[in-house]
Amino acid sequence: MAEFIEIYNERFHSLLRPGASLQKIANNAVHSEGPVYFYEDDSVVWSDAHGNRLLRWSADDGVSILRDPSDYQSGNYRDQEGRLVACSSGNRAIIRREYDGQWRVLVDSYQGKRLNSPNDLVVKSDGTIWFTDPPYGITQPDQGYGGKQEQPGSFVYRFDPATDEIDAVVTDMVRPNGLAFSPDEQLLYVSDTAAFNIPQGPHHIRVYEVVNGRHVTNGRVFAVIDPGQPDGLRVDEHGNVFTSSQDSVQVYAPDGTRLGKILVPETCANLTFGGQERDRLLIAAGKSLYAIDLNTHGVQQP
Ligand code: MG
Repeated sequence: MAEFIEIYNERFHSLLRPGASLQKIANNAVHSEGPVYFYEDDSVVWSDAHGNRLLRWSADDGVSILRDPSDYQSGNYRDQEGRLVACSSGNRAIIRREYDGQWRVLVDSYQGKRLNSPNDLVVKSDGTIWFTDPPYGITQPDQGYGGKQEQPGSFVYRFDPATDEIDAVVTDMVRPNGLAFSPDEQLLYVSDTAAFNIPQGPHHIRVYEVVNGRHVTNGRVFAVIDPGQPDGLRVDEHGNVFTSSQDSVQVYAPDGTRLGKILVPETCANLTFGGQERDRLLIAAGKSLYAIDLNTHGVQQP
């Protein structure tokens, strides 16, 4: 097996593509975050979260700058119509790129108070946007414009762009960060990166049962991640959880068994499935963007 693969369980073999290599495809960022794939032109858009820019890569065009400054854009996703939706850590908002190319604020407050600084998001099949709201854009000078925290905690929210309704769905985590649904959307996984700057803070992934498609219950620790913290995460068609960590992308079976690691030379922040078949893992790590072909497919839309 390739030297960048660590296997903890035999089941990991079936997810790997024999002979596949880990490729560095870009290295232009200060801190890579939030990759999202565009099948229309086989490109990747990702955030240079600390460089305050939004970048794009394609094999044909190389790297280009889509937005500068990006107001410390972090996590990116696409909605049912293919529009880019994103977390603006600087503007403390969820934003969307409209068909005319303009960015529009969808939501920036909850119960009359400003959000902390949305970090990562997913769009559920019903069109609702679920996002995390740790305070890093307020507390970290290279992740936002500072300011005062108005929310009493760091929550996970469900926002419906059709009705502008917003609910806090997870309120029992310290620093919720990355998130993903299971393939049937009956489970919600959320990473907690508190250990990043809180001594003894959690560095784990919690899993919640989704109720009626709009609430969650029965939260529990799914996996404790070492070394470092879990940040962005994604789920494949079998329900396996792919999470970032300090040294690698780590892969966990739905029962919580750690299957293996894909070692990456820089600290992993986030990842997504791309390629026309959604079988190419795209990894935002350190200053770079990496890719590796797998023998499994991501479930995220579109
Ligand atoms: Mg994040």
